[in-house]
Amino acid sequence: MASMMFTDCSSISSTLLHVNGRRGAILFRHCVGQLRLQSSASARGCSISIRCSSSPSSATSVDGKAVAKTIRDEITLDVSRMKESIGVVPGLAVILVGDRKDSATYVRNKKKACESVGIKSLEVRLAEDCSEEQVLKSISCFNDDPSIHGILVQLPLPSHMDEQNILNAVSIEKDVDGFHPLNIGRLAMRGREPLFVPCTPKGCIELLHRYNVEIKGKRAVVIGRSNIVGMPAALLLQEDATVSIIHSRTKNPEEITREADIIIAAVGKPNMVRGSWIKPGAVIIDVGINPVDDPNAPRGYRLVGDVCYEEACQIASAITPVPGGVGPMTIAMLLSNTLISAKRIHNFE
Ligand code: NAP
Repeated sequence: MASMMFTDCSSISSTLLHVNGRRGAILFRHCVGQLRLQSSASARGCSISIRCSSSPSSATSVDGKAVAKTIRDEITLDVSRMKESIGVVPGLAVILVGDRKDSATYVRNKKKACESVGIKSLEVRLAEDCSEEQVLKSISCFNDDPSIHGILVQLPLPSHMDEQNILNAVSIEKDVDGFHPLNIGRLAMRGREPLFVPCTPKGCIELLHRYNVEIKGKRAVVIGRSNIVGMPAALLLQEDATVSIIHSRTKNPEEITREADIIIAAVGKPNMVRGSWIKPGAVIIDVGINPVDDPNAPRGYRLVGDVCYEEACQIASAITPVPGGVGPMTIAMLLSNTLISAKRIHNFE
């Protein structure tokens, strides 16, 4: 059901400029560092640069859709190079338990994305009332199948199943979601490389890199501490930034967030982060995907993030839109992890 927990900020006019490769340099007042979208095009000399200026404030839209497309193109090339060189096609297995419509849609999108880059995908559908053993058996088959390089168990699982037990059963070498405790443990420890980084946080950091946002020495705030987004995002950022984590028991989230040069919001509360929370020039990655009632929208609702986009645009230097920001990156990172796995297993550079 659509929710409206926080004040809708859609009435505030936005002066957002969309990044467009053919427009060249676009100037903005606030900046954390020079923003520069790096793409395959930039390698050929046409890149997008965003610098500080005294023009009216308006944030750069961090175009996750465009970056994800560039990454998918890069993956397509690598997949065909691998196939031609050693005859191996990367394979992803997806296990879907139950008949939740949203999960079925996510799985369908992942399969389509695999097809679009030449990765083989296999899907196992199990009934809502199947046993945990059946799920474990499917995982075990894929663990042993040399044509499968990545295994993904679509979450959430039915309530009678032990999610931890099931995720632990995925071979760490094929854990392309990066949720295995060993992968998360390695991510948390200095000097220990995880085999895979969870897709959504990896996508957030990739966006910062591709827009040339300096992380080193910056203050970052991650709002949300879930195992799949907030916590690993904070672990990734703290490699180079000083990171604060805000959660449901944090007393002064607004004050803490206002100190951040980089904000990653992963809460699931529409428009929670208002303009007054944001330091001028901050870069914002909005992971939230929240449906809010909109009688004018074809489906009666529209999707908004955790950050009040229109207010944030007036203060931040860059922000991801919702939709079209982090969402496309998550799938691109899943494809990337599957390719990385296949390359590692077959020792292919
Ligand atoms: P989650 O598991 O529900 O975690 C939400 C986090 O937000 C928790 O850590 C919670 O704190 C914190 N929180 C809740 N209310 C808060 C408040 N009032 N102030 C501060 N913190 C608060 O959610 P999730 O799976 O991380 O997902 C978060 C959002 O990202 C959702 O909108 C989801 O749809 C979206 N998402 C998007 C993608 C994508 O690809 N774009 C992928 C995954 C998720 P406690 O820990 O204290 O409970």
